[in-house]
Amino acid sequence: MSDEINLILETACRAGITAAKICRAVLAETPESLEKGDKSPVTLADYGCQAAILREISATFPDHGIIAEEGSEHLRKSAGDAGAEKIVNLVSDATGETVNFDQVCAWIDHQGSPTPDDDGAVWTWAIDPIDGTKGFLRRDQYAVAIGLMKDGVPFAGVLVCPNLPVDLENPDGQRGVLFCAAEGCGATAVPVDGGETRAIKSSGLSNPGEWRVLGSVESAHGDPSLVVSMMESAGVGGGFVRYDSQVKYGIVASGEAEIYVRPRSRPDYRENIWDHAAGTIVAQEAGAIVTDLDGCPLDFTLGSKLTENRGVLVTAAPAVHQQVLDGLRVAKEASAD
Ligand code: AMP
Ligand code: MG
Repeated sequence: MSDEINLILETACRAGITAAKICRAVLAETPESLEKGDKSPVTLADYGCQAAILREISATFPDHGIIAEEGSEHLRKSAGDAGAEKIVNLVSDATGETVNFDQVCAWIDHQGSPTPDDDGAVWTWAIDPIDGTKGFLRRDQYAVAIGLMKDGVPFAGVLVCPNLPVDLENPDGQRGVLFCAAEGCGATAVPVDGGETRAIKSSGLSNPGEWRVLGSVESAHGDPSLVVSMMESAGVGGGFVRYDSQVKYGIVASGEAEIYVRPRSRPDYRENIWDHAAGTIVAQEAGAIVTDLDGCPLDFTLGSKLTENRGVLVTAAPAVHQQVLDGLRVAKEASAD
């Protein structure tokens, strides 16, 4: 692994672990939801995580661009004095640096100054400080997603899943997994609280009757009936399990499910790049395939949304991918009749 890739992954992992500390500190009390203009929930943990992650990245990579989910305007309006004090304490405790509220807001709003490197490449981070805030509020699954794109193509990613069982078969055991990958270097998983780093690989199950499917807990984020009819058409029989957030990428990458399917929830919905950049490279480096529901590659070059893509499909292998795409086509044709 080159020194440059090492520095990228070390920085992203350190930022992700600091973010996990903030999430857990907020969950140790009762997290409050501050509703955003689009009615989606956000918490002090979302803002604290974004500040801590952008603090690390802006210090190490000032020439990189950053596209991240949150902005400080809503925090300044809605936090009040108590909220401002709380977030200052959260970020100070997690980073070990005494900070003030204006500094926290400045980190949250940092967009970097993307400058081409010596080879003319432009590097841009796509960051979701907490993906699956609804799952976070339910104390269920959520993820911190830190992706890095080189000229608009996912190049490296760290997906921190602080509440995911290290062994999915043993939900009462240790929790917290960090998935990590960079182009050409493979993908790894390591317990957030320390432990053995292991290389991960997507599943090699070839019998569709055993293929396991993942989808969103929130029915409004997809089209569960299309998923069920795809499973029938494609003969997929390993069950349909619903998880909040992009932990689903990590589960497919580590060979614990064969299919993550995310149909578009409504015709005008476009996926956010920060929901998919980190997961895409983790999944691909583990041997999985990532496209939209038409089988087209995800196009991360068009700003903060995957404007040209319809839904997202992640599968363990090319043969699985083709069978699911065919099943989706049959299921859509049947529903159009
Ligand atoms: P999941 O738990 O897999 O549904 O993923 C959570 C993410 O879904 C959130 O971070 C949002 O970015 C995204 N999201 C919000 N609304 C929708 C929607 N209507 N359709 C698809 N995704 C959505
Ligand atoms: Mg998200």
